[in-house]
Amino acid sequence: MDALTAVLIVAGTVASYAIAWPFGVPLLVPVLNTAASFPFMVLALARGDLRLAIVRMLIWAMTLGVCATSLSYRYPAATDDELERIAGLVSAYCESELALRVASLEGAAPERPFAFEHDGVLLHGRLDVLHRDGLRALVVDYKTNVLEDASPEELIERDYRLQRLVYALACFRAGADEVEVVYQFLERPDPAVTTIFHRSEVAELEAELSEAIARIQEGIFKPTPSEFICAGCPVLDIVCAGPRLRQQPEASIPAEFAVG
Ligand code: SF4
Repeated sequence: MDALTAVLIVAGTVASYAIAWPFGVPLLVPVLNTAASFPFMVLALARGDLRLAIVRMLIWAMTLGVCATSLSYRYPAATDDELERIAGLVSAYCESELALRVASLEGAAPERPFAFEHDGVLLHGRLDVLHRDGLRALVVDYKTNVLEDASPEELIERDYRLQRLVYALACFRAGADEVEVVYQFLERPDPAVTTIFHRSEVAELEAELSEAIARIQEGIFKPTPSEFICAGCPVLDIVCAGPRLRQQPEASIPAEFAVG
């Protein structure tokens, strides 16, 4: 087998992980893995060279093994402490007033995607829970942030104000006349923080969104990194200092939005 083909199989397989992994779609990984290498095996078989096809398959399998093992070390499984924290957050939700309320809402749907355009920008995402009742919409957003000294209200105003108005606008664009957006911080689940928007506020909300978009388009963007937001970020400590940015003087941070 020529060395160039072996290099192409290895490079294609590594590249397939590099391309598929950031999308976070599990099915994409094997699909791209296969696309990167199968043509070489099929070519060998088409030439009636079974031995060559097997050698190519072994090179591919070895590359898969190395990539998968490296990734498993880079993204290790949850630790016992993390599992305990996750279990705590889940039970905090299950015992909360909001859980009772959501459970009683017929048609409440989890993970509802939304997308709309504003000022030439496509805004899209997913609502943790959406419930529609005629012209009324309820959006629930769960947060697993470590609150430290901040109150949920302060954190929402600081980091999620824009997200909240985007959720409201998404529902108004879908025909709602009243939108209730509820944030629940699972570390302190009760009371959840509720804001109700009415259709009469749409112009005001859109103006605030336009302002935010304009600032970003001007390149004015203030990151608000934290241990939570930056956890798992692929550029942490490579091109970005992450949470340590917060320790720098305020003037050195460009402008003002949440990231991550
Ligand atoms: S790029 Fe954003 S999420 Fe990533 S480490 Fe920097 S501040 Fe954190």
